[in-house]
Amino acid sequence: MTAQIIDGKFLAQKICSELKQKISAFNDNSPCLAVILVGDDEASRIYVRNKQKKAAEVGINCRVIELSSSIGENALLSTINELNNDPDVHGIIVQLPLPEHLDKQKIIFSISPDKDVDGFTPYNNGLLSYNHHDAFISATPKGVLAMLQSIGIDLRGKHAVVIGRSQIVGRPMGKLLLNHDCTVTITHSHTVNLPSITQTADIIVSACGQPQMIKSSWIKDGAIIIDVGINRLNGHLCGDIDFEDVKSKASYITPVPGGVGPMTVAMLLANTFEAFLRQKDHPQHHCCHGHDCHCSK
Ligand code: NAD
Repeated sequence: MTAQIIDGKFLAQKICSELKQKISAFNDNSPCLAVILVGDDEASRIYVRNKQKKAAEVGINCRVIELSSSIGENALLSTINELNNDPDVHGIIVQLPLPEHLDKQKIIFSISPDKDVDGFTPYNNGLLSYNHHDAFISATPKGVLAMLQSIGIDLRGKHAVVIGRSQIVGRPMGKLLLNHDCTVTITHSHTVNLPSITQTADIIVSACGQPQMIKSSWIKDGAIIIDVGINRLNGHLCGDIDFEDVKSKASYITPVPGGVGPMTVAMLLANTFEAFLRQKDHPQHHCCHGHDCHCSK
């Protein structure tokens, strides 16, 4: 068997051209995504530039707010508060990682759930746990789901093994697959005998950041393999899956690059458009700061 490739670049282009068409119907008004970039991490700059370019292609205005790596927590929180209250901004993301001195959770939690197009706030995570349709779902898991749906498989009852339990990929991925009736196993760096678990998987979604860790001996014949990992090995990009080895045994596989990466950006833009639509119909109704908050909402 040679696995069929799930072409994320192609699928993402299709999603983006549909988005572009929908956005062009609002000719007097366009969605706006605010991206906060703190410091000068080179990889973050590349990711932000890419998001900005793709946003422009679909007609989303991307406002990049560049802040010095020495910015204090209160100054950053007040920037987010201004964006939360700006009716011209529909989505807000904070590019990670943040410099060490900043409390990542405190920063992320301060984003209004209405504008949390990365789906990282506890509110949207909670909605995802409830399988509630209002949840903004993190872009990477949402992109992975779209890839699985693109091949037309019935997810019900499939054993899905997620490798990695981060807040941005592994955990929301597990919840999303559970919401689609998979039987889900979430594994991580303390999991004992991981290959014995992956060998029972119908679907593997790997997001552990370990270059080419998953070999053909770890999977069963015909498994569907989704590689979220983006790693560097000998100067080249690669995923968590040993692609050349695994592709002869899997039924479907995603490449790196050109797999989950482009889907993540497309889903971020789709979430921003969704936030724009909701805010047009119902101006902000959530305050994320608790009862003693004095923000203008
Ligand atoms: P993270 O470091 O926050 O989490 C990694 C997870 O993998 C942890 O839960 C850890 O327990 C687990 N893990 C580490 N080593 C393991 C091992 N040997 N066996 C089993 N589990 C192990 O990383 P993250 O932010 O979730 O990202 C994971 C990978 O996905 C990285 O390579 C990252 O670059 C990539 N990524 C890609 C996209 C995309 O759009 N394609 C988006 C986000 C992250």
